Amino acid sequence: MSTNTTPEITLAGSSGGLPGTEDGIDLALGADHEEVRAVWRPKSGLRAIVAIHSTVLGPALGGARFRPYRSIEEALTDVLRLSKAMSYKAAVAGLDLGGGKAVILGDPATVRTDALMSDYGRFVDTFAGRYLTAEDVGTTQADMDLVGTQTPFVGGRSEALGGSGDPSPITAFGVVRAIEATAAALWGSPSLEGRHIAVNGVGKVGGALALLCAERGARLSVADVSSGALGALGAQLDVEVVPPDAIHAVECDLYAPCALGSALNDRTVPELSCQAVCGAANNQLDTPDTEAALQARGITYVPDYVANAGGIINIAYEAGGYDAEAARSHVARIYDTVARLFEEASRTGERLSVLADGMAEARLAAAGASPAAAQP
Ligand code: NAD
Repeated sequence: MSTNTTPEITLAGSSGGLPGTEDGIDLALGADHEEVRAVWRPKSGLRAIVAIHSTVLGPALGGARFRPYRSIEEALTDVLRLSKAMSYKAAVAGLDLGGGKAVILGDPATVRTDALMSDYGRFVDTFAGRYLTAEDVGTTQADMDLVGTQTPFVGGRSEALGGSGDPSPITAFGVVRAIEATAAALWGSPSLEGRHIAVNGVGKVGGALALLCAERGARLSVADVSSGALGALGAQLDVEVVPPDAIHAVECDLYAPCALGSALNDRTVPELSCQAVCGAANNQLDTPDTEAALQARGITYVPDYVANAGGIINIAYEAGGYDAEAARSHVARIYDTVARLFEEASRTGERLSVLADGMAEARLAAAGASPAAAQP
């Protein structure tokens, strides 16, 4: 399958388009995407963008993020970055899947309705299987069950409906496997007994990750902007709670960003007091240069898309009937991928993310993507 070199931004909507989409957008951002399409359905209020980065390895899988973006530009930037990361994530995880993502604009707490989610399902269906949707921040398994009434191209539905359920617990399992591989490489043993781990964001994945780390004997510091999320975790675990603007600076062995993107930036990196960063959040590095700043401080960064691949690996095992055991054993092998990156890093002196990108690009290139399409 070939990759378009120019983005195709098609405005699809019953009123002729998504206002503002042509203003102030850096089209170069999508230059190596295959397709980007926006929809506006005024009756239901749906405003959404789907970006397909690559279908070279297979259909483009990626969740639907539902957020009150401040502008169309912010939403488009997010969907372009996230969809590209999904291509790399699937490639390194050894899946025959491409990378895509959707964003739905608005606060789900106030604008989400069944009519809006049904319209979203119909929009996904127009991609005829080139894009497979699933849940992400702001969308739920119940939303995907509803989307599934409009299109078969949806993952992460309830097990009763033939899906694999909420991917968050298995994503957390993959992250803890990545943390164990990090511990083995840095401290000589995969054991987390007595290790101090700081988790930022204890929602669906971060909360489950905190529990898995605690089960393995780690000491936890946690932060979240939601008192509900903190309360739910506090009911199960004895943890130190830290303000969200201070969690990155906690003196600890490992920092696990599990909220939204850009946790590692000009402000936080100089204040980190850990030896390694490994978490679930997508797009943790604010800019591609941020990892060099981490390296200069002697802090190891485990690429987010390697550590958090458990969710898409799990959804990939829905094809032909969900096989939970095979999915879990594939996710457990995130340990091996991270261990391999550390081995290559000690041999070459290269950063882990450069090595991971190289693995993804080699796979995409072997499958027919042009090198230009594989630049992160
Ligand atoms: P979630 O919404 O359930 O949890 C995110 C948590 O972060 C919430 O409790 C929220 O209150 C908190 N939060 C938001 N802003 C914060 C801030 N500034 N400081 C501290 N806490 C803050 O989402 P999730 O499904 O757990 O996903 C978390 C991250 O992991 C996201 O970046 C997501 O893209 C990524 N991810 C999730 C999955 C999955 O299976 N759910 C898979 C791969 C990657």
